[in-house]
Amino acid sequence: MIVRDGPAHHGFRTLALEGPWQGMEALKACEALSPELRSALEQAPTGACVGWGIPFDIEGFLPLYGEPATLRCAPARARWLIFQHTSDIRPLKPNRYGFVSPTRGWGQLGELAARYTVLYEDGSEEEIPIRRRHEIGAFQRPWGENCFQAVAHCKPRPQWPHHEQTALSWGVSQTRVDAADDGPWVNWLYAWNNPHPEKAIVGLRCEPGEGAVLLMAVSLGEVQEHPLRWRPRRKATLTLPEGLTFDPTLDEMGLLSQIRLDMGQIISAQWRPIYLTRAWGESYNNQLPVINRREIILEYTAHPEAAFHLWNGEQVPVSQVEEAQAVYLKPVPPATQRVLLRVVERGSRKPVAVKLHVHGQAGEYLAPVDRHRIPNPCWFEDYSVDFTHRGQHHCTYIPGETVINLPLGPVYLEVSKGFEIKPLRLVREVTPATKEIVIELDKVLPWRERGWVSADTHVHFLTPMSALLEGSAEGVNVVNLLASQWGELVTNVGDFDGKTTWGSVEAGGDGEYLVRVGTENRQHVLGHISLLGYEGRIIAPMTTGGPDESALGDPIEILLTEWARQCRKQGGLVILPHFPNPRAENAAAIVEGVVDGVEMTSWDDLYSGINPYSLSDWYRYLNNGYMVAAVGGTDKMTARTAVGTVRTYARLREGEPFTYRAWMEAIRRAETFVTYGPLMEMTVDGKPMGARIPMTSSGGTVDVAWEVASVTVPMSRIELIVNGEIRESLAIDPWAARGSFRVPVSRSSWIALLVRGHYTDKPEIIAAHSTPVMVEVEGSPFYAAADAVTILEQIEGALAYLDTVGTRAETRAYKRMRLILEGAHRRLHNRMHQMGHYHEHTPPHDHAAHHR
Ligand SMILES: [Zn+2]
Ligand SMILES: [Zn+2]
Repeated sequence: MIVRDGPAHHGFRTLALEGPWQGMEALKACEALSPELRSALEQAPTGACVGWGIPFDIEGFLPLYGEPATLRCAPARARWLIFQHTSDIRPLKPNRYGFVSPTRGWGQLGELAARYTVLYEDGSEEEIPIRRRHEIGAFQRPWGENCFQAVAHCKPRPQWPHHEQTALSWGVSQTRVDAADDGPWVNWLYAWNNPHPEKAIVGLRCEPGEGAVLLMAVSLGEVQEHPLRWRPRRKATLTLPEGLTFDPTLDEMGLLSQIRLDMGQIISAQWRPIYLTRAWGESYNNQLPVINRREIILEYTAHPEAAFHLWNGEQVPVSQVEEAQAVYLKPVPPATQRVLLRVVERGSRKPVAVKLHVHGQAGEYLAPVDRHRIPNPCWFEDYSVDFTHRGQHHCTYIPGETVINLPLGPVYLEVSKGFEIKPLRLVREVTPATKEIVIELDKVLPWRERGWVSADTHVHFLTPMSALLEGSAEGVNVVNLLASQWGELVTNVGDFDGKTTWGSVEAGGDGEYLVRVGTENRQHVLGHISLLGYEGRIIAPMTTGGPDESALGDPIEILLTEWARQCRKQGGLVILPHFPNPRAENAAAIVEGVVDGVEMTSWDDLYSGINPYSLSDWYRYLNNGYMVAAVGGTDKMTARTAVGTVRTYARLREGEPFTYRAWMEAIRRAETFVTYGPLMEMTVDGKPMGARIPMTSSGGTVDVAWEVASVTVPMSRIELIVNGEIRESLAIDPWAARGSFRVPVSRSSWIALLVRGHYTDKPEIIAAHSTPVMVEVEGSPFYAAADAVTILEQIEGALAYLDTVGTRAETRAYKRMRLILEGAHRRLHNRMHQMGHYHEHTPPHDHAAHHR
């Protein structure tokens, strides 16, 4: 396809090169290329294209593998040669546990993909190495794997907000209703109840009064009730005949194509969720219903004599549906019984915040009267206190009491509150006498009592009070709400004051659930960094360097490393979010020792667990003695992600009261583990996670004592990780296990615990991972050469980006940033040489000399 991202600049011209170019069809049949690349070929730019203002004439493809190819052109002189090229994917080769070591990342940073040699008329030559993530990227870019010296074929561009592209504003579209009673012209309908229906009408006389009137038409009707009055909403299930699939698109009048109402309106049509009924109590929290694409739950409001009009022209009276006499449509018992629902801890009368899901006999979601009946799962479109698991299983958060309209008969409830309280799925029978439903929860695991507090390090868009409700309902003691910038959009900045901790005793809360507003500062190539709990002024700019994180035209004026230092100066905590991506300057920040934690991130994924890719990247630093705590955060940006899906557990000092400050201290001490459900305890020779144990040069043996328990995800194995390798692996009871390992130590070693587990119908995942204990053997520094090279290469990449395609700030800022990165590079580089490691490398100052 022809891709012209704008007009071409007159300073460029295309170069005609003669050579073995190939067409698209030949390439599609080429076995040396991945099927992914071949199937994406149609999307590749071809023909007379423009990229970044530069014209390109793409007449074919030159696949490079195996044999070299030579291209010829008429003599031409130019200051720049601009290559438009891409590369095939290079799959990683993880070991059987999913770990990759050493890892250069998905993008295979620094790998030589090709070599181009420029031939001159005089017979001389100039060689250009084409390295991955420097001069070339892959045809599909995994998020966080940007090029340091090359850019994508299309230049960045501004985007209009939704309401400027369509007639309907984004905000109004969220209401999902349109009164349709205004606009450039309105006629009015009046229904006159004729007192003499038996008499024939023979005419109508119309006389003017004050001002003008336009009569447009008159019609006659025979219905019993007022033709313009509809009844309250009802629900029905629609089962389409075999061979027909449901089309959910609405036309410009808001109507479906396959089913419509004449005197009424269909409010919503959603796939019918089919839940387990008899086994509901045994199914697990958040377990998804089955969706049958031929079954729909319709919600409607209509005149009692209205009729549905079906796809085949058939008309079905609403009354026939409600009397259960229709073929395709069956009535759903209406939710007419108003009930007070209360949730308490067993033995207490005090309501507690929980996550709640309720459905009726047809699987229809029943929301409290003040909650969304249809949560919106899209980015930045709904930050209400709801959770919609994959848009199929809807839940809401309640402060312990709520009013809800329920149908008579059985209703199915799901109630949960984090990882220490047993989640419940239960059935209650609603009768006309039911006025209140009370549900009692059992606290099963005493981790909080032992001084552990849970946290989500990464939540966006919620208001602080909504975050407080969601945190308490998910059993998350600390929610870090992060203000940030997304292009021209800034979020939560009005909630940042650099001092308030919502929910704290000083702020009028009970002190058990806290919310603190920090910032996530971001650069699309260099990386993201979360600055938590700092005091004073907001650390801005929060984004730099242009799209997709910051506004077009923003220069790179500050580094992650500098943001981190500023945050620490203001008393805050520094976290590398969704580690390791974007995978670039975070290497320098860790080497400089300004990072407190690396974040394992879930987003909306409940079933993939802690990613071995993240762990592999973290292990590289641990192997080289850079101790950084593991933390868990969701990066919640939509109602599809629940706060605390993955979370951090951190232990307060014994007897220390829980405050936000005490929590920050626990992270700094690195006494943490990350989990999707299972809880853990681990000591090494009696020392907690995050501790350092000195040992004499003769080495020795350490005792690793552990205990694990779960009330959510069933556990399957516990594993002992020593210096990034699995040393022990034991099958365990799904709900509780304890034991110990004796580990001989001859060189400096880090020791951590990993728990695997899974729901019965899902694959095994890494469900929890501890921060290690570092055993430091005298005279044996932590050092892993292959990993150190990959860390160094990341810093070199960051430098190359500053020097080449990164939007340049004024010279002073550019030089300052360069010095910082060179400093980190030198620090690691010197260490490598001290360890006697010889390696091929480009000194960082070379980039600047070449590319200025
Ligand atoms: Zn981020
Ligand atoms: Zn984020």
